[in-house]
Amino acid sequence: MLAISALKSSLLTILTVVVGCALRGDIVLIFLLLTQSIKTDFEPNRVIDNGSSPQQSDAIKGASDLPLDVLFFVTTSIVSSQGILIVVSAYFHYCYYVARRSEAHEWKCQPRRFLTPENAKHEIGVGITNMTLLGVVSGLTATYVYRGGQTTLYFDFSHRSLLYLVLSTVAFFFYVEAISYYTHRLWHTPYLYKRFHKHHHRYHSPTAFASVAMTKLEILLYQSYLILPLFGWFEIYAGAYVVVLLYIYYFGLVDHSGVKMESWFPWQPPSTFHDNHHEFFHCNFGFNTYFFDKLHNTLRQEHRRYGEDVFGGHGKPEK
Ligand SMILES: [Zn+2]
Ligand SMILES: [Zn+2]
Repeated sequence: MLAISALKSSLLTILTVVVGCALRGDIVLIFLLLTQSIKTDFEPNRVIDNGSSPQQSDAIKGASDLPLDVLFFVTTSIVSSQGILIVVSAYFHYCYYVARRSEAHEWKCQPRRFLTPENAKHEIGVGITNMTLLGVVSGLTATYVYRGGQTTLYFDFSHRSLLYLVLSTVAFFFYVEAISYYTHRLWHTPYLYKRFHKHHHRYHSPTAFASVAMTKLEILLYQSYLILPLFGWFEIYAGAYVVVLLYIYYFGLVDHSGVKMESWFPWQPPSTFHDNHHEFFHCNFGFNTYFFDKLHNTLRQEHRRYGEDVFGGHGKPEK
């Protein structure tokens, strides 16, 4: 019985991870990198090449194949993302929001609060539109890498030492967290908040669709932070890049699900952390660690007053 329950929980976790990726439209890119890591004859041009001139890879295709490659990767990216998003959202919706609605105090971050029908519809519409956009960007990036474009990714595990692999992976993870925290704080300054980020915060009690429901400028900028290291200033092992993306996407989905979920990693906040960000607005700006919120004293504190008009990240004394 215990084994069946463990198996069921593992399957659900795997499904959520896959869906988390698809939500951002990067599933095709991830799949491509994984398959190319296994192939021994694949070696795209690296930006950093130890002084030697980059060699044209066998993987570079003729120019006449370009429209077909673009069509294939962009279409596959969009179709898989949309399809899986609908399946997973249906899972969360029926397993929690319908079947266990009367037990919301057991599983929901904000048990007494649900999206209004209008906001739920809005969240789905914006989410699907943005996902299409991400699918196009992701498909084009996948085409570029597939055709042997220059990248700082390396595909041969033994190309660098194990120590380098660990340090570069941690650096990439930390880079994403840092850039996400600081840009998120910028979106929360009065001018940018009222004109852009407010749209994401109309979902006071978000569900999975909210992870991509924001203005196009925000979602494209966020996507660019993740793609930029492919052309960055230090080499990253493709497998490590994929693992970090999977990690970020998985927790991005969980953090917006509205369902209480703890993480297995000591540095990763539970889902209530970002749900609190939606409930209280200007606090808890980080995503995958508490580090920057602790550093800048922007963690939500009991006995402080927060609200959409209380800017700055530190709340105000209770009246
Ligand atoms: Zn925010
Ligand atoms: Zn959010």
